[in-house]
Amino acid sequence: MLEGLMQDAQLTVGEIRRRMARCYGDREVITLQEPPAPPVRGTYAEVAERVERLGRVLERLGVEPGERVATFGWNSQRHFELYLAIPSFGAVLHTVNIRLFPEQIEYIVGHAANRVVFVDDSLVPQVAKLAPRLPGVEHFVIMGDGDDGGLGRRAQVSRYENLLDEAEAGAYDWPEVDERQAAALCYTSGTTGNPKGVLYSHRSVSLHSTAVCMADAVGLSGEDRVMAIVPMFHVNAWGLPFAAAMTGAGLVMPGRFVAAAPLARAIAQEKVTLVAGVPTVLGDLLRHADEQKPDFSSLRGGICGGAAVPRGLMEGFERHGVRLLQAWGMTETSPLCTVARPPEALEGEDHWAKRVTQGRIMPWVELRITGEDDDEPRDWDGVQTGEIQVRGPWIASRYYEDPSGDAQFTEDGWLRTGDIGSVTPDGFVQITDRAKDLIKSGGEWISSVEVEGELMEHDAVLEAAVIAMPDERWTERPLACVVLAEGAEADPVVLRRHLASRMAGWQVPDTFAFIDEVPKTSVGKFDKKVLRKRLADGELETVGGKSRA
Ligand code: AMP
Repeated sequence: MLEGLMQDAQLTVGEIRRRMARCYGDREVITLQEPPAPPVRGTYAEVAERVERLGRVLERLGVEPGERVATFGWNSQRHFELYLAIPSFGAVLHTVNIRLFPEQIEYIVGHAANRVVFVDDSLVPQVAKLAPRLPGVEHFVIMGDGDDGGLGRRAQVSRYENLLDEAEAGAYDWPEVDERQAAALCYTSGTTGNPKGVLYSHRSVSLHSTAVCMADAVGLSGEDRVMAIVPMFHVNAWGLPFAAAMTGAGLVMPGRFVAAAPLARAIAQEKVTLVAGVPTVLGDLLRHADEQKPDFSSLRGGICGGAAVPRGLMEGFERHGVRLLQAWGMTETSPLCTVARPPEALEGEDHWAKRVTQGRIMPWVELRITGEDDDEPRDWDGVQTGEIQVRGPWIASRYYEDPSGDAQFTEDGWLRTGDIGSVTPDGFVQITDRAKDLIKSGGEWISSVEVEGELMEHDAVLEAAVIAMPDERWTERPLACVVLAEGAEADPVVLRRHLASRMAGWQVPDTFAFIDEVPKTSVGKFDKKVLRKRLADGELETVGGKSRA
């Protein structure tokens, strides 16, 4: 082999940070506050200066190379600073999904062996309740002035701003980082069993962020002000903070103010050009915009994903002059794999035929569809469906210290996505079904098996099968199909109360169908396809059915 004679430069978050500090010092990150307080504004020069001091703070906290440092945080300037500082330090940014059930968070923090945890003060009450279950945590760093909620009884407590004030200013002596080193960790509950850790490398973060910026992907540039509504605890906010640091795009961070009204106000006031979020949140924003007609004149586009994006949502944004593009991916894929940007030449229904797909495969992402029972690739003819499998430089090769998830990866190195679909000859993916027995509601996972198990613990329940029910606001809600034990009586109120103490409120089904028997396959498994068809054909009599407020 004649080797190329090019330099072997390392693709690292540290390099993204260094260049951001030099080139984009005047750009701003803007964090919304509880009205009437004005948003907090910080320039990238200020961010960069604070990040240098954060390097010293991490050193003082005794953080070791490769150590997983947890964050419980909304989207904010401080969280952005941690995104840059922790990986630059050679440690791993572990963003904890605050919406998970306490048992899951306990498991995740224990599994990641988190010793140092950064917490937004607004989340302190939640973390304080959890703290007795987090014995490995030695140090909580509170971001903000709020009460410490008694965290000090469990571990050492410091204040983010105090630590920064005490740290020496000036350039920090960052370590050399190998691009294959772990940079960030995010657990997904979109699998069976315990949540599983996806461990991103500096190289995968750098390549993914570069691809995000491509004109045919999100197309982020220094002209943009992007409002990342997608939480920073969901797959690194789809890579947008890193992409913004790479391009000098401004960032508008909603904090915990993710309702439609404050978001719309921020879009108008801060001249946001691009929004990114799941269909539920953007659907609320659209309804608000239709009613209140806020000033969206700065907004040119949006990226929507995490669940199928209805055509009506995209058409609705179009009425406001905003092109909302669908994207598809998973925690395991960093996440972007496809973006549905149609060729400019297409018009009318031809245009929409592409827009409603999950999108065209991005460069470096290889994709194949295989039979559900074999790994034989199917043709890309837009007709044949099969399981979608992907591989590439920002796709997980396995889960962090969890061999129980190995079956999700094929022997020849592909990730089984658990999504079923087809691909057109020109590379547009259309998802038609889901092999994984899970429900995705408002961008968060609900495990059918778990809800079924808890329901069957109730004396009145003989069998329970939980399936997804389409929902205009939440995309999907769980529908519990219940067979009552002989002579037993139970109504949705009783069953909901039973479930409420065992799972997060939003995971409890609102709607029930009382049936005589759960249909079974030839090997005796619940045949949910039959139940789904009955639901679609209007043959299931449902009780309840109020969409969650
Ligand atoms: P998560 O790991 O929580 O980001 O979930 C990833 C999963 O969400 C995918 O495997 C899909 O099942 C679903 N998903 C994400 N984006 C889309 C989309 N645009 N259309 C349909 N399903 C999607």
